Amino acid sequence: MRVAVIGAGLTGVMTAYELARDGHEVIVYERRGSIAAEGSFAPASVLAPGLALAHAAVGGWGGLERLPAKPTAWPWLWRRWRAARQPAQAARLTCLRDLAQLSLERVQSIAAAHQLEYDHHSGVMALMRTPRDASRAQALLVTHAASSLPVRWLSADDARATEPGINPTLPLHGALYWRAGETANGRQFAHALRVEALRLGARFQFQQEVTGLATGSGARQQVELQTERCRDIAESALSVGSTGAATVVDEGPQTFDAVVLCSAEAASRLLPGAARPRVAWGHVHSVTAPRHVAADAGETFGPSGAVLDPAVGITISRMGDRLRVAGVASIGALPSRPASAVLARLYATLEATFPGATRTARAQPWVGRQDHLADGMPAVGRASANGLWLNIGHGANAWAQAAACGRLLADQMAGRAAPFDCSTLDPARLR
Ligand SMILES: Cc1cc2nc3c(=O)[nH]c(=O)nc-3n(C[C@H](O)[C@H](O)[C@H](O)COP(=O)(O)OP(=O)(O)OC[C@H]3O[C@@H](n4cnc5c(N)ncnc54)[C@H](O)[C@@H]3O)c2cc1C
Repeated sequence: MRVAVIGAGLTGVMTAYELARDGHEVIVYERRGSIAAEGSFAPASVLAPGLALAHAAVGGWGGLERLPAKPTAWPWLWRRWRAARQPAQAARLTCLRDLAQLSLERVQSIAAAHQLEYDHHSGVMALMRTPRDASRAQALLVTHAASSLPVRWLSADDARATEPGINPTLPLHGALYWRAGETANGRQFAHALRVEALRLGARFQFQQEVTGLATGSGARQQVELQTERCRDIAESALSVGSTGAATVVDEGPQTFDAVVLCSAEAASRLLPGAARPRVAWGHVHSVTAPRHVAADAGETFGPSGAVLDPAVGITISRMGDRLRVAGVASIGALPSRPASAVLARLYATLEATFPGATRTARAQPWVGRQDHLADGMPAVGRASANGLWLNIGHGANAWAQAAACGRLLADQMAGRAAPFDCSTLDPARLR
């Protein structure tokens, strides 16, 4: 089939790779000058199967810790709050667990098969800072949903021995630990994977915004895309430059057998009214800074993998010779620049958790957008109109689930059965 993918963030690149691997003719449309230039630019990229279960058990409802200033978002937050209390929530969390497990396997096998070079580190630790959080986390581990998870409980002493850079005075009552969990530079991975997708015949059209789509009728359903060159969308000052391999071609309307929308923004604007998903936009900050190099072997600065503090919604992760601290989720429009009050909070948490771990004078701050659906699940599969497919709504979890979702979508297109129950991902629920 001739397939268009709209959006070249983590989700779009992984989807394009899987579709090209299945032998489809794939063309990716991206309005920016390079891949991973928007929500996928500098996230934490932590992957630990069952992390969503742990967040639900310890941290409340869906990681949206701050109420937005604007009351317009309250109805959406109410729907999110209600969804977290529905009987279907157990099936959703099980599906997120299975997605993360499949993503971890897929990321590792793709990286090994193509010998992809990207910064990645093993070990994900969720700190439990109060006795109440510690007992909630331990209670989670004896539930049926957690029985197959590759996670174990560490006492505070064991947690400090595993991550010796943790501040010895930080109050700690134990930790959940995924030895096989990973933190990675997702953007580096996506750049390397794009090269493999190109080798498989996929094409990337940068600075091409899809401005309209029309579905055909009759026996052979086809989708026509209208695109516009968008040289006016400048690369963010923080973004990488174009890879140089991109060619910007004005092609006029293009016809496809299938179109996969890997951008919630495109889906909300381009899909026919009834199929348009109701998306809430959130944003999260991050700071990336060089890691302090220890002067002698006895000193350790920063984490060896990723360390999460669910109580404050902040993740500190290793990225090669840098550290990234990310967090403070809010619902609402993306600010034009990172908020200094939020950055101060990130720096303070970093210093309190891993004193002296970075050289903050050379830190790069960033704020990135996330798309959330009200039930906290992505929408992956066939959209209402023929030939239209969705892979959106990854919220805070794109790295944790994009590889699995790309594979599942390609399987679904080929009529292959999913390896686990994916009914909670069905875009039909959004209608
Ligand atoms: C600070 C921060 C920390 C995070 N931490 C984690 C984490 O630890 N673990 C995890 O799993 N996830 C994490 N996330 C979430 C994750 O990184 C994002 O959800 C993810 O990168 C989104 O990927 P995406 O491909 O779905 O969307 P995007 O990266 O936003 O890609 C969508 C692309 O579509 C393009 N586009 C939109 N409309 C059009 C159009 N009409 N035509 C052409 N192109 C179009 C855009 O330019 C964009 O490049 C974090 C996010 C942030 C911001």
